[in-house]
Amino acid sequence: MKAMKDHAREYSFCAYCPKVCRFSCPVSESTKTETTSTWGKMTAAHLAVTGQRPVDEQASKAIHACTGCMRCTEFCKHHNQPADALFAARGETIAKGVQPAGAASTLATFAQSGNPFGRQLAPLVAAWKADSPVRYPFFPGCTVLVKRSELVDETLNVANRFGAPLGVSRAAGRCCGYPLYAAGAFELFQAHARSFAESIGPYPELVVQDPGCAFTMKVLYPRFDVHPSARIRTVYEVLDENLPHAPLKPALEEAVAYHDACHLGRGLGQYDEPRRLLHRAMASVREAPSSGNEAGCAGGGGLLPRTMQETAVDVARRQAAELQSVAGETVVTACPTSRRMFERAGRRSEDLLSVLKRWLDFEPPTS
Ligand code: SF4
Ligand code: SF4
Repeated sequence: MKAMKDHAREYSFCAYCPKVCRFSCPVSESTKTETTSTWGKMTAAHLAVTGQRPVDEQASKAIHACTGCMRCTEFCKHHNQPADALFAARGETIAKGVQPAGAASTLATFAQSGNPFGRQLAPLVAAWKADSPVRYPFFPGCTVLVKRSELVDETLNVANRFGAPLGVSRAAGRCCGYPLYAAGAFELFQAHARSFAESIGPYPELVVQDPGCAFTMKVLYPRFDVHPSARIRTVYEVLDENLPHAPLKPALEEAVAYHDACHLGRGLGQYDEPRRLLHRAMASVREAPSSGNEAGCAGGGGLLPRTMQETAVDVARRQAAELQSVAGETVVTACPTSRRMFERAGRRSEDLLSVLKRWLDFEPPTS
């Protein structure tokens, strides 16, 4: 577990950098301020860690103006990782009592209910008791369970038709803990990760829908010295692997643009798997000017929707506009949080699994 002081080198790289990645940060592109640029945020942390300026409310605001999208890292010659370093600095804002209200209330809600939505997840999970043997235990993620439960049914249906039957796992009744990490509550996150990893110990593997949850279990847990014995895979990997068993049907005659979610793409390196699935279902899949590892962010990560609500929605609006410029109305994403952000920005988008379900259900009219 790396605390703020362990990131001193990364902060200084940015503080003395001529802002090479300036254009890449979705937050500063939206706010149009230097304080929320990668350079500005990391400089606030650099000044704090070198004792030149305390972590006050202003510095805390800057430190929280990051979605954790990792886009700046892609344009950095040092491959510096501001997301991780800034989230570590958030721990100092808790210690100094200057954490933004939205982040503090997320921690309070999490302490009460074990997830960021303040809901009891176990009864929701119980609704999907599998009535036949399943091959893979499935973890949709809190956002799907609470905000779009119909996506669980669509996913189970698609997986069955791909010959990869999933069953909602009891582990889905707990959050993976990402909000604790994003709030900088690293000790709480580590303890939560340990107990979550233990709870999935009996499963040989866990199939995860929300890329943020998969990234947390696969990438963040090991950074905190937590190593789940269960193999963590995304539902997109599993379905892609099963594509040869998917029904042979013509693609739908529609044009869509694909949004690479940050945690799925830059986080887990899964660019091709969702595209292969989408290409089977849609006649035309178009790419935005920035895609793959350089793709834009939808504003849903790093607690930004809770700490800078309007900015988060504006980030989503900009990303949707870029995607819609190449494919008209419909944006497809494999990230339920991104879809929610596009919706909040008043833009039409569809989950990849909903698209696959629509494709599988479509019966061409008989002449
Ligand atoms: S991430 Fe790299 S390019 Fe961006 S400000 Fe920091 S050192 Fe410079
Ligand atoms: S991780 Fe994303 S939001 Fe955070 S500083 Fe880098 S580009 Fe900006």
